[in-house]
Amino acid sequence: MTRPISATIDLQAIGHNLRQVRQQAGHAKVWSVVKADAYGHGLKRIWSTLAAGTDGFALLNIEDALWLRQAGWRGPILLLEGFFDADELALCHEYGLTTSVHSDWQFAMLAASQARKPVNVYLKVNSGMNRLGFRPEEVNAVWQQLQSLAQVGEITLMAHFAKADQPGGTDGAMRLIRQAAEGLNIPRSLANSAAVLWCPETHYDWVRPGIILYGASPSANSQDIAPFGLRPAMSLRSRIIGIQHLKAGDTVGYGCRYQATKTQRIGIVATGYADGYPRTAPDTTPVWVDGVLTTLTGAVSMDMLAVDLTPCPHASIGSPVELWGGNLPVDDVAQAAGTIGYELLCALAPRVPVVTV
Ligand code: PLP
Repeated sequence: MTRPISATIDLQAIGHNLRQVRQQAGHAKVWSVVKADAYGHGLKRIWSTLAAGTDGFALLNIEDALWLRQAGWRGPILLLEGFFDADELALCHEYGLTTSVHSDWQFAMLAASQARKPVNVYLKVNSGMNRLGFRPEEVNAVWQQLQSLAQVGEITLMAHFAKADQPGGTDGAMRLIRQAAEGLNIPRSLANSAAVLWCPETHYDWVRPGIILYGASPSANSQDIAPFGLRPAMSLRSRIIGIQHLKAGDTVGYGCRYQATKTQRIGIVATGYADGYPRTAPDTTPVWVDGVLTTLTGAVSMDMLAVDLTPCPHASIGSPVELWGGNLPVDDVAQAAGTIGYELLCALAPRVPVVTV
């Protein structure tokens, strides 16, 4: 018997989620955000499902962009942080990749580029997040300079929201974006998943959803996405490989964090932090066991974790366990563990076998 753990990637769920996104996005075109190996789902595994309905792929690494070209994707590809050096810029020209331009050093490299084929540019505005991008008052001048370069093709205004999942959360950013866009009649790409769902006034020409394609929530709360009918694409599943009968006072796992107050049956599950399960998860973290929701007992180990079997008296060796997925939203696990669904999905460890359905 092999170690009973696997991640199931549901391609139909991804296709369904893309259709739901399209319904929300209206006339806006859709960049499917597939950075971080498609949020842990595997770019190579899922790209063709998205290709059937997306307008373009947005990602981080040029290697992924080139891989998509090799795989046969001829449509738009956007490098969300642009090129990192002159060699990458040359590849953008050669392979028709759209590049974000967020800083003076990138502009200088672009201006110095000898490439004949023009490259499409996403001119990034710093709309208050203060990571990358030009300040709103600089944008017009940068746009004029970009426009004067023969190396530059279409220019689109791009910004990213810090808190589109909160009521009124895009108001300040939208003020800065409007300031940046004054006098510019160019396409805009602003909306991430949260803005796709909750801020239709931000949709404009191209939206850039990531997490909702994978059926998880851009807010910390799984309930927030319930009205949109999204389906979780990744389920992390395992089985019970050991059972312990505790007496009052017995402790469980490293640090003896959990202590039984009465007799109690616990199950040992073949999943640990080396599989990508968060070690910080407390004893309140939900775990699905054999059709019932229960909770962790004790600290997560490298290869194992323990669960309370009190609510599941029928559970035994071999009983199925879902750490997150179709029966238990990843957001609920993340919330208990003090993180976000994004981090858990991206952190799925390479050692976990993946099954595509
Ligand atoms: N656009 C940019 C620039 C991003 O960095 C990201 C992800 O962080 C996205 C879009 C997609 O965000 P989300 O997964 O919240 O939809």
